[in-house]
Amino acid sequence: MSEEATEATDEQDRYECRACGYIYEPKKGSSTGNIPPGTAFSDLPPSWRCPVCGAIKVQFVNVGPTEGPSGFKENLGYGFGVNTLTPSQKNILIFGALAAGFLFFLSLYGLR
Ligand SMILES: [Zn+2]
Repeated sequence: MSEEATEATDEQDRYECRACGYIYEPKKGSSTGNIPPGTAFSDLPPSWRCPVCGAIKVQFVNVGPTEGPSGFKENLGYGFGVNTLTPSQKNILIFGALAAGFLFFLSLYGLR
C-alpha cells in the first residue's frame, strides 16, 4: 500500500486570471514568453503576464488540476436522474408552451 497521492505537487494546478478568465494550463505552457509545456505556474518568470489581458501573476488564482468535465456531468446526472434537460431548457419548454397556449387562445377570439 503506497500513498502516491503524497507525490502530488502544484505542477498540474491550473491558474485562472481573475481579470479576464484566462486559464494557464501547465500541460500546455504559454505561447507568450516562450513557456514550454509542463511548466508549473509557480515556475513562470515574474515578468510573465496574462497573454490575454496582460495581468501580472498575482492576479491569478489556483483553480486546481485538470480533471476534465466528467465529474461535473456525473453530478448533474445524480440531480436529474435520466432527465437530461437543464433548468434553462425546462424554462424554454414551459414558456414556449405558455406562449403557444396564449396564441391559441387569441386565435379563438380572432375567429369569432
Ligand atoms: Zn487575463
